[in-house]
Amino acid sequence: MKRLFGTFGVRRLANEVLNPEFASKLAAAYGTVIQGKIAVGGDPRTTTPMIKHAVIAGLLSSGCDVTDLGILPTPAVQYAVRNYYDGGIIITASHNPPQYNGIKFVDEDGIGIHDEMEIKIEDMFFNDNPKRVGWDEIGEVTVNVRIIEEYQEEVLKRLDLDSIKKANLKVVVDCGSGAACFTAPYLFRKLGCDVLSLNCQPDGFFPGRDPEPIKDNLTELIEVVKATGANLGLAHDGDADRTICIDENGEFVLGDKTFALVEKQMLKENGGGLVVTTVATSTAIYDVAEENNGEVIATAVGDLLVARKLKEEDGLFGGEENGGLIFPDFVYGRDAALSAAKIIEIMAKEDKPLSELVSELPVYYSEKMKIKCPDDLKKEVMDNIAEEIANDPRGYELDTTDGVKIFTEDGWVIIRPSGTEPIFRCFSESDSQDKATEMAQWGISLVEKYLK
Ligand code: MG
Repeated sequence: MKRLFGTFGVRRLANEVLNPEFASKLAAAYGTVIQGKIAVGGDPRTTTPMIKHAVIAGLLSSGCDVTDLGILPTPAVQYAVRNYYDGGIIITASHNPPQYNGIKFVDEDGIGIHDEMEIKIEDMFFNDNPKRVGWDEIGEVTVNVRIIEEYQEEVLKRLDLDSIKKANLKVVVDCGSGAACFTAPYLFRKLGCDVLSLNCQPDGFFPGRDPEPIKDNLTELIEVVKATGANLGLAHDGDADRTICIDENGEFVLGDKTFALVEKQMLKENGGGLVVTTVATSTAIYDVAEENNGEVIATAVGDLLVARKLKEEDGLFGGEENGGLIFPDFVYGRDAALSAAKIIEIMAKEDKPLSELVSELPVYYSEKMKIKCPDDLKKEVMDNIAEEIANDPRGYELDTTDGVKIFTEDGWVIIRPSGTEPIFRCFSESDSQDKATEMAQWGISLVEKYLK
């Protein structure tokens, strides 16, 4: 059967594929499975109100009650669902361009739903048979505007506020006109930071920058950090579940580095613990764990797999190489607000600039490459590569948790088909940049070989 869902929800061109009819039917199918009180929220995209109203109609039609949480970060919805609701729907296309939108479904713990539930929903969607209740069983709609405030209060509870306030750090925050506009600048002011805001007006056209917080999109933030002598620059993606840092010299800090930095702090504070990440993350995460009484489990790529593993294993902390960090005692998903606040706390408590904190971490060099591959060829290409590598006379150590990760004497490279786009991704890591680049190119060449 055709699949609708990617790694986390459904993402499409808004009002072309993802139009109100599509959204409403999909939500009715989800409502049929959950049958309870559902929270709905979304990002500031131009098409979010249209899709949200369609989603609400579908949920009501299937007999669910709905609470509209308004425009807010994805993790704030996940927080609310875990504490107050039976399920949740988030209207967002995260870091994708403005013409896209998406629907993310979470379970009662606020974790992205399981494959089996997705398949059930898809089946009802394609067979056109979600439950439609009678006129006297239609659910109710209420509004809850308190969550944004409560979510920030919960972040504050998890920090050493005295130390942070004393440090009086100057922070530039670039919300990219996304959902973080409603939380980030307010939160950092509550931490006693001197806050300069950039792109902090919510706007679905994303006029200031592209919603993806990659280096090329953050030139303005980098300039402002340098020009104002700020201690830190922070950037969020469109739905505010990822945080990217710029250090006091205007240098872009890779997600792997902030992950390792916060991991070190979490393990120190808690005297060790279980850390969950994906197979695509840096060896630095293992090194830091080893030095600080921690243990690491790696899942396939996908933040909801990390979140689910953290819940199952009662883990301490988790994250991904892209700057998405998970604090399972707060939200079972990537959370940008606590990530950013935690980094500010580390700078304050250690009384060191970010560049110095980063320089104390284990050093590895990485490379990320991608290559186009039609979805229907992905499996065949992947199988061929896996077979070739398994039979290679050099006898590589392999990890096939997700795609194939090949360990060589120079480091490792992982080759895997993307769950959301018609591409293969090749990430590599080594003790020199040249070797890392060479290994990623080797991965790309293997995909090319079997694409022909
Ligand atoms: Mg996101």
